[in-house]
Amino acid sequence: MVYLDYSATTPVSMAVLDEDYLFNQRYFANSNSVHALGKEALVNITNTTKLIKKSLNLLDHKVIYTSGATESNNLALKGIALKNKHLGNHIITTPFEHGSITATLNYLAKQGFVVDVVEMDEEGLVDLDDLESLITDNTILVSIGLVNSELGIVQNLSKIAEILKKHSQIVFHSDMTQGIGKVLLDYSVADLISLSGHKIYGFKGIGALLHRKDIKLTPIIHGGKSISNSRGGTPPTSLIHSLGKAIDEIYKHIEINNPFILELKEYLLSRLKGIKDCYINSNRHSIPQIVNISYTKASGKEMQKYFSDHDIYLSTTSACSSDKAISKVVKEITGDYERAVSSLRISLSHLTTKAEIDEFIKVFGAYDESH
Ligand code: PMP
Repeated sequence: MVYLDYSATTPVSMAVLDEDYLFNQRYFANSNSVHALGKEALVNITNTTKLIKKSLNLLDHKVIYTSGATESNNLALKGIALKNKHLGNHIITTPFEHGSITATLNYLAKQGFVVDVVEMDEEGLVDLDDLESLITDNTILVSIGLVNSELGIVQNLSKIAEILKKHSQIVFHSDMTQGIGKVLLDYSVADLISLSGHKIYGFKGIGALLHRKDIKLTPIIHGGKSISNSRGGTPPTSLIHSLGKAIDEIYKHIEINNPFILELKEYLLSRLKGIKDCYINSNRHSIPQIVNISYTKASGKEMQKYFSDHDIYLSTTSACSSDKAISKVVKEITGDYERAVSSLRISLSHLTTKAEIDEFIKVFGAYDESH
């Protein structure tokens, strides 16, 4: 098979799997238990938290472990909105956010919060003037993702943070799920950061919300005292450990992996030139891991099925919105309906080979010639 859907999820790395096997035999105790075995498990969580903060260079942030980025996003948005509603009821976001952001904000809008969507420029970057003009004394929260999951466009979070810093009541949340382990920057420009294990060769069912120490959140999962006051429940000790391992591993290899993936992307782009009616939607701001194209001879759905029938796996929009026939993000960037219904997301990894790209092009070319 040829797997070209690493932005939907990644396989668990051998390093994470091996360590998990050993870990579960040794540290199975409940870290909330006060006996020696429980304390040992708690020490392990504390060490993992230190490792995560060091790998991400977020030494002044706290870590809340969650079930994944969907929960992290829910906790960040609901947690801040509810905690700070006495300061205002206005929230700003972008049209490029993941469904777990949009759905949570739709929910908050029904609870009386006012949500504004900032305009994007023609290259898919946040229009900074529009952002500035949307801010009022009532704005308490801004949520802007680091990397869009469909086109892979990286937002300039430092510039955005500079604007937001002028307003002390604004908390800046960034869903970094598609950027962690891929994009190097000072993540601390955001007050709250969401990430997920399964996008970085870790397990599904574990993620984190990192937040500045002085930030307080209303919990969405209430429970007994645990490692965080903002999230009840017995900490999933081995999943937490696995997340630390996955983050540590990906940052140890990022300097080697990123140039390698960029080379693969350039190879893929050069080979795609041979296919008529194929347009590239990703642009110079996109990460090397994501190549979004439109092939206007067929719908994205048809092409996804065709590739799947040939053991080649990729996405139309993003995995979480793949039941929708049209890519909102491609429509926004290209202004072209035909391109939006025929978009395909190819996502690459350090595990991808040129031979896999060749196979993909061969199967693609065969379709193109016969239609
Ligand atoms: N945010 C983004 C940008 C994502 O790509 C995803 C996963 N598709 C999520 C959030 C949700 O992550 P999880 O599957 O860990 O809930």
